[in-house]
Amino acid sequence: MYMYKNTRITLIKGDITKLQVDAIVNAANNRLLGGGGVDGAIHRAGGIDILNACKEIGGCPTGEAQITIAGNLPSKKVIHTVGPIYKDGNNNEPQLLYNAYFNSLKLAEENQLKTIAFPSISTGIYGYPIEEAVDIAIKAVRDFIDTSSSIEEVVFVLFSVEDYEIYERKLEMIF
Ligand code: ADP
Repeated sequence: MYMYKNTRITLIKGDITKLQVDAIVNAANNRLLGGGGVDGAIHRAGGIDILNACKEIGGCPTGEAQITIAGNLPSKKVIHTVGPIYKDGNNNEPQLLYNAYFNSLKLAEENQLKTIAFPSISTGIYGYPIEEAVDIAIKAVRDFIDTSSSIEEVVFVLFSVEDYEIYERKLEMIF
C-alpha cells in the first residue's frame, strides 16, 4: 500500500470485499438489488442481510449514495452508489460520476467513517472509459479531502492489473 505524499490517497490491487476499512463503496444500480461485477461480489461475500437492507431503502438515483450494514464483510459499512451508464459523454456522465464519488465521501463523513475504499465505479459493465473515469475519481476525492479533515484514508481498489497501472500512472502524474 502506497500513500501518495501527504494526500491520504492509497492504491491497491485486489478484491474490495476483503478490506478491513470503515466503508467499502459498492458500484450499485438504481434498484439496489445486486447485479454483476463488484456489486455481485459484495452481495455474495456480505450475505443476504445487505440485500435486505437495500430492499428496505428501495433504490438510489444515479450519482447519489446510500449506506447499509456490511453483513459478513470485514468492513463496518457498505456505501452503495450508482455511477452513470456511459453513452457518449454528452449525457452528464462526468458530473454524475463525480457526484457518485463525492456523495459517497459525504455520507462516510456524516457517519463518522474515516477510512473508505472505492472500486472503479462505472468502468466495468457501465462502460465508462477508464482514462476519463480515473481523472474524475481523483478530482472528486481531492476536492472532498481538501475541504474536510474527517476522512483519514481513501483507498482506490483495482481488480485488474491494467486498471491498477492506469491509476498508478495518473496518481504519479499528479502527486
Ligand atoms: P459498473 O457497473 O459501475 O461499471 P462493475 O462492477 O461492472 O461496475 O465494474 C466496476 C469495476 O469493479 C471494474 O473495474 C471491475 O473489474 C471491478 N471489480 C469487480 N469485482 C471487484 C472486486 N471484488 N473488488 C474490486 N473491484 C472489483
